Amino acid sequence: SNILNIIGGGMAGSEAAWQAANSGIDVVIHEMRPKVETFAHRTGNLGEMVCSNSFRSDDHEQNAVGLLHWEMMQANGLIMHTAHKHRLPAGGALAVDRDPFAESVTKALKDHPRISVSYEEITELPSDGNWIIATGPLTSGSLAEAIKNETGAEALAFFDAIAPIVYADSIDMDTAWMQSRYDKGETEEERTAYLNCPMTKDQYEGFIDALLAADKTEFKEGETAKYFDGCLPIEVMAERGRETLRFGPMKPVGLTNANDPNNKPYAVVQLRRDNALGTLFNIVGFQTKMKYGAQKDAFKTIPGLENAEFARLGGIHRNTFINSPTLLDEQMRLHSRPNIRFAGQITGVEGYVESAAMGLLAGRMAVAEMTGQALDPVPHTTAMGALVTHITGGADAKTFQPMNVNFGLFPPIDGVKGGRKGRKDRYKAYTDRAKADWNAWLAQKSLDAA
Ligand code: FAD
Repeated sequence: SNILNIIGGGMAGSEAAWQAANSGIDVVIHEMRPKVETFAHRTGNLGEMVCSNSFRSDDHEQNAVGLLHWEMMQANGLIMHTAHKHRLPAGGALAVDRDPFAESVTKALKDHPRISVSYEEITELPSDGNWIIATGPLTSGSLAEAIKNETGAEALAFFDAIAPIVYADSIDMDTAWMQSRYDKGETEEERTAYLNCPMTKDQYEGFIDALLAADKTEFKEGETAKYFDGCLPIEVMAERGRETLRFGPMKPVGLTNANDPNNKPYAVVQLRRDNALGTLFNIVGFQTKMKYGAQKDAFKTIPGLENAEFARLGGIHRNTFINSPTLLDEQMRLHSRPNIRFAGQITGVEGYVESAAMGLLAGRMAVAEMTGQALDPVPHTTAMGALVTHITGGADAKTFQPMNVNFGLFPPIDGVKGGRKGRKDRYKAYTDRAKADWNAWLAQKSLDAA
């Protein structure tokens, strides 16, 4: 049949439905609320914001999330257009009046002649027809079970364990050095996978004190704090004993101190390359529930990271997501069942805007496939393309964790200055390039003709 079925009417599912229906495809949204609730949603509305009422920065010249807003506006995105309609004053951020926002999204979808909403929980993977699964971080238990049976348990996570990510060009390489533990690694890529920051005894003791004293975020009710071995928050490790980290992720063994060979480090903070481009590094083992301000304060005391700029800070949340790099093709289809696409937070993007963005792409990709039209790959140089490329291939599958959009995901531009000094010009160059390439991608005649 030529119906597109979408499971989940949140940020991603709502946007996917809108895009597909406007291209002439009939859509059914299957939404379990209000019949079945989650611990975070409060209403039965589509497009409900579960926590903050902000879509973050609206600056489309200097901010990657603002650029994503712009790209969605260009593509007639429902979430962004509705957000602008219900905008509240919030400086450079796009904050909205959340209830009218969600009511407005719900009304637009329900009034659309090609969209119907079926209020039910889907508990099995559909075997035929065209489907998008956009059930989000709080995917219901039975559907998660069905997904796990298809993907294998190791490819479906129920919590994220997000280590902070640093822009490579903000790390001081007069202090830090590149080396893998015991110099392991066959290929050049493996040998350049790790950066190390050395600590003296005093620096280590001071760092432990900072972790113990830091402000932490509590888990929400229903978000049970079940930590898994191997992903304990660093501050919990520090609470278990002042030496725990030095025998864990901060152990100094198998490493030199390349910039100061006579001073063997007392502890070492390791960073691992986080993307194929080598522009981002994550701090190994530093998942944390510390508040953002406290994280920045503590991590900037690490030698080599004094001027670090963070592409993402650490966190641990209840979050159902799949290992997209191994499971999905570049069109967001499940390799093992290509009639099913995934979209939204469950694909391993993080945030309302990113989730809606992946819904927008999945909706358009589904339409192209259902109408037998070729769709060019989304340019990697756009915010949309940078994100989808990251989750479906750019990210390391072994350490895959949810990702926000950020300029570290964009291919560098030749001749544009790196570092802090060149940042403003560099970001402008990225956003200019992205806008031109996104408009060209949208102008493909295939979809307009559908
Ligand atoms: P959702 O918006 O959650 O939509 C998924 C939909 O699927 C829901 O309506 C759900 O009811 C439905 N569903 C689930 N299972 C089934 C099923 N089996 N059958 C039918 N329907 C089903 N991001 C931010 O940018 N800012 C924040 O402040 C923020 N706070 C968050 C707080 C919490 C507690 C959580 C869990 C996440 C938060 N996020 C936040 C992250 C994320 O961006 C949002 O959760 C976002 O809504 C994800 O969009 P989505 O469409 O993927 O999922």
